[in-house]
Amino acid sequence: MSQKADPDIGTHSSLLKDTFVRQFIEQAWDLFSIFDVYGNLTYASKSFSEVIGFIPSDFQQVVDFIDSEYGMDVHKMFIKTLQTCSSSKLEFRARNAAKNIIWFECTAIPIRNDEGDLAEISFVLTDITLRKNQESRLVVMAFHDPLTGLPNRRMFKEHLQQMLLKANRTKRPFGLLYLDIDDFKVINDTMGHDVGDAFLQDFTHRIKGCLREVDMFARMGGDEFTILLPAVDCKEHVESVAQRIVQCFEQPWEIQGQQFRATVSMGITMYRSNETDATSMMKEVDIALYKVKGKGRNHYQFY
Ligand code: GH3
Ligand code: MG
Repeated sequence: MSQKADPDIGTHSSLLKDTFVRQFIEQAWDLFSIFDVYGNLTYASKSFSEVIGFIPSDFQQVVDFIDSEYGMDVHKMFIKTLQTCSSSKLEFRARNAAKNIIWFECTAIPIRNDEGDLAEISFVLTDITLRKNQESRLVVMAFHDPLTGLPNRRMFKEHLQQMLLKANRTKRPFGLLYLDIDDFKVINDTMGHDVGDAFLQDFTHRIKGCLREVDMFARMGGDEFTILLPAVDCKEHVESVAQRIVQCFEQPWEIQGQQFRATVSMGITMYRSNETDATSMMKEVDIALYKVKGKGRNHYQFY
């Protein structure tokens, strides 16, 4: 698998002896590569140069531009085409000469000679970077709140499940805080919905400043937020986070020229044992939050 591709392609590949096929392949925007059955690269189309910045001259150069986590899949695809003599498709990530990420859909096509034996394998690569980027944007949108950029309820639920499974295994507790901004309706009603929106964004920023990288901060909807504090060994640690949040509200807010004060109420619970489940934890923080609201707001309470 190390021979250099001969620039005079037509002399090697039976496929390219046909003038029509040759013109088609040489002018296509897709990337055409042809290998013999031993894996030697015998042809790579000019379009490689336009899309990835160079034309590979041997099998190794093809492998080198594919991201390592997909290398084995591409290798297996080649072997499978040899064994089954049937075409198949695969998506993989690669890097161009400037080291930028490009996604390809690769179609492996077996090519038989006049006797019907497998003579060559063609890999046709289609640039699907645009589609892949759109797909990942959709995934981000499905799991994030557009206003604050925070994980949404759906993502929070998945994380909570994961944390419960992990805590059951490791026996290390974690904390759950449920936050609800006090009298948020008043902010909207007196200063307008735009100020309310901008406040939610600034609020997000301030709360993030009270948390560690590993903590998960999510928007459940409206003015309700959750925080998951993983691997906290004691209640005191959770309490210190809650205190920091209350303190960070002592500073007044200045939004779109309006100065005002705001407060937040929090219900808190801790993972205790294998018996703990997501539904009961959510009920517990809700009960605790309800108590804080009833006692005049601007504070936290453990379940
Ligand atoms: P409480 O102290 O009991 O929490 O009262 P509250 O005024 O904060 O009322 P509540 O939490 O029940 O309601 C939250 C309000 O937030 C209701 C809704 O109009 C408003 N809201 C929900 N989503 C948004 C949003 O994305 N932007 C803005 N500006 N307001 C929102
Ligand atoms: Mg509220």
